[in-house]
Amino acid sequence: MTDKGFYFAEVVATEQLSTHMVRVTFGGNDVAQYVSNGAPDECVTIFFARDGEERPPAMTVVDGQWWYHDVEPVPEGRNYTVRRFDADAGLLVIDFVAHEGGVAATWALQAAAGQVVLWTRPRSWYDIPDTAQWQLLVADMTGLPALGRVIEELPAGAKVHAIVEVLERGDIQQFETAGEVTYDWRFGSGNGDSASVLEGVVREYVLPEGEGYVWFAGEAAVSRAVRKYFRKELGYAVAHFEIIGYWRVNSEQWLEKYKQYQEEAIAVYDGALEAGRSEAEASEEFDAMLERVGL
Ligand SMILES: Cc1cc2nc3c(=O)[nH]c(=O)nc-3n(C[C@H](O)[C@H](O)[C@H](O)COP(=O)(O)OP(=O)(O)OC[C@H]3O[C@@H](n4cnc5c(N)ncnc54)[C@H](O)[C@@H]3O)c2cc1C
Repeated sequence: MTDKGFYFAEVVATEQLSTHMVRVTFGGNDVAQYVSNGAPDECVTIFFARDGEERPPAMTVVDGQWWYHDVEPVPEGRNYTVRRFDADAGLLVIDFVAHEGGVAATWALQAAAGQVVLWTRPRSWYDIPDTAQWQLLVADMTGLPALGRVIEELPAGAKVHAIVEVLERGDIQQFETAGEVTYDWRFGSGNGDSASVLEGVVREYVLPEGEGYVWFAGEAAVSRAVRKYFRKELGYAVAHFEIIGYWRVNSEQWLEKYKQYQEEAIAVYDGALEAGRSEAEASEEFDAMLERVGL
């Protein structure tokens, strides 16, 4: 099977998954050829049709990079988790948080059979060391699709504690698993509605004995606070956590300011890689630089 650089995907079904989440199932010839990377937090960047178009334009490849090299304006793209991929049926499922505003959320709310989007090759971050005896999974609603997939794919007996922040009880989901999973569902906070309680709940949680692995997916400022807790206060090595900002409160204002510092921040990241540091360490330096300038 050829590993395609991008995939056109056609909506085949939509469903109101929970109070604030919409499930969209995609199919079509390209999706049938989708090459999954197998990671539970596998994510694709979805590009949407521009005004007046029925589908987003195709990408082209330059120096091995698939992108919109000659297309103006570049279609809007957003990151989404592959909640499920059934290679035999050629169907791929994505769960969208139906928040207010936003190209992707607005698209998901009106999605209907026959509409076409485009997505890229998958990327992922979840990477549990063989030596980890337990896992702590923490997510808000954007991280819930990946958290669900991690739990569903656990090996028998794997010990996991999940802390999840959703908007309402009606957003709680249940997952089948071979693992031994305990849950702490929090509702009515975070998720763009009010302040997140995730950092406080993580701090209160008594970590099990032995070596563990922490995975977090949620709002960027909360992810920074949680990362500092594990990295700086508890002294965790980078291999023992993956703490990722999946979205950002008031992203418009943040992006406006980020434009001023983008070059400098990328130079810090590239410099760290050149100095022999790992991608995770380079990301830390990138983030520390942004924090220094109030971002
Ligand atoms: C690796 C990865 C995997 C992801 N997987 C998923 C997934 O499976 N499902 C999912 O729903 N999201 C997922 N996300 C998050 C998603 O990419 C962002 O929420 C994205 O900003 C949504 O795009 P939008 O066009 O709807 O809103 P944008 O145009 O990006 O933002 C518009 C406004 O909405 C605000 N906003 C953005 N997202 C949210 C939100 N979730 N809640 C409240 N306000 C918000 C912004 O601050 C901004 O003010 C993932 C992100 C990453 C990095």
